[in-house]
Amino acid sequence: MASEVTAIDNRLMLLKTRFADRTASQLDDMLRNLRTWHTGEPTHGNLLALYQLLHRLSGSSGTFGFVALGRHASVLELRIKPLLERPDFSAAHVRHIVNADFIGQLSQLADLLQQGREAPPASVPRKAVVSDTQDTELLVLGEALTELATALTHYGFNTRHCLQSADISRQHWHENITIIALARHLVEISEWNRSQARRLQQKEVPILCTGEEDGFSSRYRLADLGASGLFTLPADVPRLAERIEQLSQERQQAGGGKVLLLDDDEELAEHYRLVLTNAGMDVRVMSHPKGLLDTLAEFRPDIVLMDIHMPPFSGVTLSRMIRFEPEWLSLPIIYLSSEQDRDQQLRALAQGADEFITKPISDRLLIRTVRILCYRARQLSKLVSCDGLTGLLNHSHIKQALSHEHARVQRLGHSTTVAMLDLDHFKSVNDTHGHTVGDRVIKALANLLQKRLRNTDHLGRYGGEEFVVILPECDLPQANVMFEEICHQFAELSFNSSEGEFRVTVSVGLANLNQFIQAEQVLNAADEALYDRKQRGRNGVSCYASSTLS
Ligand code: GH3
Ligand code: MG
Ligand code: MG
Repeated sequence: MASEVTAIDNRLMLLKTRFADRTASQLDDMLRNLRTWHTGEPTHGNLLALYQLLHRLSGSSGTFGFVALGRHASVLELRIKPLLERPDFSAAHVRHIVNADFIGQLSQLADLLQQGREAPPASVPRKAVVSDTQDTELLVLGEALTELATALTHYGFNTRHCLQSADISRQHWHENITIIALARHLVEISEWNRSQARRLQQKEVPILCTGEEDGFSSRYRLADLGASGLFTLPADVPRLAERIEQLSQERQQAGGGKVLLLDDDEELAEHYRLVLTNAGMDVRVMSHPKGLLDTLAEFRPDIVLMDIHMPPFSGVTLSRMIRFEPEWLSLPIIYLSSEQDRDQQLRALAQGADEFITKPISDRLLIRTVRILCYRARQLSKLVSCDGLTGLLNHSHIKQALSHEHARVQRLGHSTTVAMLDLDHFKSVNDTHGHTVGDRVIKALANLLQKRLRNTDHLGRYGGEEFVVILPECDLPQANVMFEEICHQFAELSFNSSEGEFRVTVSVGLANLNQFIQAEQVLNAADEALYDRKQRGRNGVSCYASSTLS
């Protein structure tokens, strides 16, 4: 890890040097030019070139560690900007503004550049707590929660139980694991917070509390201590498991994100790419907008970061162009620009972008902002494609995933299994315990599937109490073993209602996607296998055999 960080530091240092060398020679040329202006006839084009240099410096210098240079360039930029916009532009006006004092100020930029070269670079923000694994490690605290710890194990969580807060310090904290801490009492968590909270907060470990106390003041105090939820005892385990799952997913997703970055300043774009990649994001850089639409279709970013000023292109116009395609109507486009004028910013935003990030931006702030924007973008697209009750893909989106996977299978030939699941005698669950309790059972199965299956599997709620799962690169026998285990694990879960404790089972039908010409045929086959399972006593798995193909 250390050498990796050094390598990135070295690359950033190299970019800084390249930026400084290029800027030094551009300032040199510009100063030589300006000295001829008081005798010659500076044109609009000459002034524009000066403006563009200053604009670039005010936006990018800070990123490479030349903060003072950027600020000073921004002051000079603002001095000449009104001139460019004057309808009665004349060489005399230019000479009046770009006078000896201005030239003196511009040569100071070269000094600031030199000073900045010697300053040590800021350290690169390291990858935050991003989980590469799907493991959710639960830390359950307090003697009174022994039973709860066991119950949560049945939901597939990797649970560690500590009797008292003092034991926690001995725990080994993995960077790559999602830890959700559960504490029993308000008092316990207060105590714990004093000794451990800073560490937990640094790692942004979500804390859920259980306790007998409820009400505004205890909830407020818990929120103030940094807790993420309160569950009154006796805890509703399925609901708790669902909340844990949700927190764990949020945590895993908070780190990642797919970013398409469009900026004509190659060094700056490369700097952003290194910083964001190092923070765990997947970044694609374009320094020219040609091919933008193809890249969007192929890379499918969560957000687009776009420079506004890319002569001869305008980021504002490119945003409008992206919106020609209905598919990209809701894709968040964020302008990265050194435009400080709020009025101008709003005018640019009105043309089809969503946010404005003002350059220069520190690496740390860039990471935080981009992370939040990616997270929000994902949440929004989830709202469109996911089922409200379970968070799994909805009917149309699981079918879409199926046809994508079918196309991939045709192309690559890997074995893919499709599963159809249906809860057993679910009508009687609803009749006995009520629809709300029935919903909880549906959610519990969804959570278990999310826990047990891989990130690359597609999970959908196909209809009421029916689910469809697509398992790429998994053959029928492997899927069979996996779903037998899931059936077994689900049957172990116990639910509660006013009618008492009860259990529910699930039946599964499996079929191999590879053997069908049409993607949809596999659903009929899995359904046939499911029907077979229902006939043969439910609570288990049946596989579709190709010999019964009709
Ligand atoms: P089988 O074992 O043969 O599948 O029997 P079943 O009772 O599960 O099958 P049936 O298709 O007769 O009943 C399905 C029930 O699922 C009926 C319906 O009320 C219930 N259901 C469908 N969607 C939802 C939902 O979103 N929430 C709840 N609570 N129940 C639902
Ligand atoms: Mg059913
Ligand atoms: Mg059914």
